[in-house]
Amino acid sequence: MSKIAVMSENLANKIAAGEVIEKCSSIVKELVENSIDAHASNITINLIKGGLSKIEVIDDGEGMDKTDAKLAFQRHATSKIHRDEDLFFINTMGFRGEALPSIASVSEVLLTTSDGQDSTEIHIKGGKLLSEQSGPLRVGTSITVTNLFYNTPARLKYLKSENTETYNSVNLVQKLALAHPQIKFTLTNNNHLILKTTGSNNLLKTIHEIYGLNISNKMLEFKASSNDFDIYGYICKPEILKSNKNDLNTFVNDRIVKNIELNRAINDAYYTYKPEGKYPVVILKINTDPTLVDVNIHPTKQDIKLSKIDDLYNLIYETIKNTLYNNLLIPNALKDQSVNIIKDNVLAEIVEKMAQTETKESVQTELDFKIEEENKEVTSEVIPNKSMKSLMLYPVGLALGTYIIAENDEGIYLIDQHAAQERINYERYMKALREKSLSITSLLIPITLELTASDYLIIKEKLPILQEIGIEMEEFGINTYLVKTHPTWLKTGYEEESIRKIIDLLISGLNNFDPAKFNEKIAITLACKMSIKANYHISHEEQEELLNELVLCDNPYNCPHGRPTIIKFSIYDLERMFKRVMN
Ligand code: ZN
Ligand code: ZN
Repeated sequence: MSKIAVMSENLANKIAAGEVIEKCSSIVKELVENSIDAHASNITINLIKGGLSKIEVIDDGEGMDKTDAKLAFQRHATSKIHRDEDLFFINTMGFRGEALPSIASVSEVLLTTSDGQDSTEIHIKGGKLLSEQSGPLRVGTSITVTNLFYNTPARLKYLKSENTETYNSVNLVQKLALAHPQIKFTLTNNNHLILKTTGSNNLLKTIHEIYGLNISNKMLEFKASSNDFDIYGYICKPEILKSNKNDLNTFVNDRIVKNIELNRAINDAYYTYKPEGKYPVVILKINTDPTLVDVNIHPTKQDIKLSKIDDLYNLIYETIKNTLYNNLLIPNALKDQSVNIIKDNVLAEIVEKMAQTETKESVQTELDFKIEEENKEVTSEVIPNKSMKSLMLYPVGLALGTYIIAENDEGIYLIDQHAAQERINYERYMKALREKSLSITSLLIPITLELTASDYLIIKEKLPILQEIGIEMEEFGINTYLVKTHPTWLKTGYEEESIRKIIDLLISGLNNFDPAKFNEKIAITLACKMSIKANYHISHEEQEELLNELVLCDNPYNCPHGRPTIIKFSIYDLERMFKRVMN
């Protein structure tokens, strides 16, 4: 190669590096994905200062011979592509074939690799070969990256603080471990162990190793297929919620992906099981024909486009919804104390802390990462499909005018009477609103409804919408309507109030009016309005009726705003609290 050609190639590498290495974890990702492609079963990632000082990835994969090792540092060397489907991910998932040369052009790289036959050690700095010699005969590859961006200081300032860089890598390795539960991952920063999975090939066990027992114990398994997609994974019970979408872990053909539609399907399936703006922990694995994965997306993003996304949306939505529906989801009042919560939550705390500092960018103090070897066995039996509908709840009384105390042979329950009735009413109204043949009450004496002049005029245009849901109104003098019919489900004695509420909702939602959303809003608003408030003492019979109706709901666990309706103190919890049992 002529000198000029070499220079331009090096320049191209530097440009590519600037584009694709946005953070230390971009390098970690490329190196670890190479290890995965080399069929490693053990991958260790050692960072110093979150990767700012050093990134080291050691694997026990197939390793390379001398020729391949040198080829790996040339642009577009594709010797590492083993699987057909990788070709579809080249453009979407990273800069494969350009990874090592790009990294080596802006840093110092030491590669040691052996395929068992021979062993090679290559030392490169700024794209220039410093040395090449034989190395130790350990099968596998080890790559160390130091002095990142030493020759392009302008890029260096794009890197974030140590905490943020560490956080990004922890986050990435967690997802890689979930994508590949058969691989043992170890991640350290400044010689402190942060993350370790055992490569058990058991997804639930991997979830446990990453999230701890408190979360892994509350996961529900799911599995489903359509013509084009197989989905499998775990969702958490709605009592576990996070304030960001980071734990919506989605994978297509074992690759980490981010996709708005996938997140939307998950979020929609949890509708009313959780408040808006809170997100569950989900591990969703999608397998599909790689040709359905669109490649036309920016290389550094994990975003993808999928053909037949509507089919996939429905499959995910229905499957998660049914999984929630088919499981008993009453949260325990007490945290599970049989496990060491602190130990389990060490990583979660670090990650959360770092997520916070990420946005603050304040003075960074060094976080000390400590995680002990976890010996606890994960309980991997699937939670029995117990439906709430068979649950008997016997009211004992009402506390604070707000909470019904109930019991059965499993323990004591506290039920928020407002939230519970809100749920019952909500489902009743939704059902009535969805019904094809509306049940309508004709009023012998019409209700006179006086509105403001502006509301009167707006509604004049929208009378057909109201008629759709059973409210027939007729103009009657100045700013006044006569209501001649209303849907039968309106609570007796509250008809006028309800109709006024519905009119308010109609007016407030007029820009981009959506009938489904309108119905939803009516059901939620009226359910809240028409439900018993706190500090209202209901009789024993009324309590009984409320509980009987609650257990028959599709989602008896949450009010339509996603707040819990019921919590449980199991007999075991009570015995532990009263020290009747000592473990
Ligand atoms: Zn309410
Ligand atoms: Zn509510």
